[in-house]
Amino acid sequence: MIYNEIYPQGFDLAHSIKIGNSRITKTLGLLITNTCNATCDLCCKFSSPKDKGRIPIEESEKVIHEAKEYGFTQIGFSGGEVMLHYKELLELGKILNNYEMTFTIATNGYWAKDVEIAKKKLNELKSLGLVVILASFDESHSEFIKAETFRNLLIASKECNVEVELHSAYYKNGKKLKDYFTEDFLKDYKVYESPVIRAGRALTRPIEDFEYPDEKLPVGTCPTPLQPTINYDGKVYPCCSVAGFTKNIEIGNIKNDSLFDIMGNIKNDQFLYYIQKFGFSKLLPKIADDLNFELPAFVSVCDACYFVGKNPKVASRIRKEIDLFLQSYLLEFIDNLIEKNKIECNSH
Ligand code: SF4
Ligand code: SF4
Repeated sequence: MIYNEIYPQGFDLAHSIKIGNSRITKTLGLLITNTCNATCDLCCKFSSPKDKGRIPIEESEKVIHEAKEYGFTQIGFSGGEVMLHYKELLELGKILNNYEMTFTIATNGYWAKDVEIAKKKLNELKSLGLVVILASFDESHSEFIKAETFRNLLIASKECNVEVELHSAYYKNGKKLKDYFTEDFLKDYKVYESPVIRAGRALTRPIEDFEYPDEKLPVGTCPTPLQPTINYDGKVYPCCSVAGFTKNIEIGNIKNDSLFDIMGNIKNDQFLYYIQKFGFSKLLPKIADDLNFELPAFVSVCDACYFVGKNPKVASRIRKEIDLFLQSYLLEFIDNLIEKNKIECNSH
């Protein structure tokens, strides 16, 4: 099935918890490496074979322990390319298995040289608790991973009964999945195909290369429950979107803060609360007016979030406006509550 959405809605709401005002997945993202066999031109993390950024395995073990204590039930391993560290994945899988936690991996599938090799590895990981593969393929990835190799991964996953979420991004007038695989072949997988977001390496592409929706400002709110995600350098972000790795929404650092403190930071972050409830379409035009700049077109809500996060002046201004707005929103809420109570008291 192909979901032509701007941002995948692949999160299962039942697999999330409400903390304060935010809905948060029970999956904790752990980006154990920033090394990758590829250097895709849309990579939000600037991953490459030369990048040696890593979370040491002892640190991952500590995080998994805290995650278990906090109530997370699943770890989402991502990178970089996690399968470059296959032995470490097996070690971490064993720890998760002991804790009765499951895990997912994000991969570009480079290692699926043939179906049998892929099945052997998938079965090994599955026996430790692998439940979903988040597999990425598109025109940018195809420069480094052959469509045939990626197809092996999809076939092997199906034969091993491991669920696949296929994530794919396209430039305007660029190739789409249908240019590599038939619809009939893809029908057995959950496919999320969406325009490339202008983040990371994609910022080097000319603005005309991106596909924009009709509205200049993306309508809608932050599109998913939040998924706290620990980057390879220890910094923690509230989501695993390609647009989510900005200073504005950094919510802690696992090297200095406990996971409990970090979860408290998410809960108390008014910016996150606001964009989950209201999105950007009301405040951004006002701030552009106040600061006297012209708003660019945005690919999606996440693209707008990235724009804010990458512009400290805009981020600081929007946070001030949100504080003011939420104060009056709260006062109005309390007034309404008092009024409602009065009416109920009078009617008794
Ligand atoms: S997009 Fe994925 S496969 Fe491509 S360089 Fe980045 S981490 Fe590697
Ligand atoms: S809107 Fe921001 S916080 Fe929400 S998913 Fe997108 S990048 Fe993450």
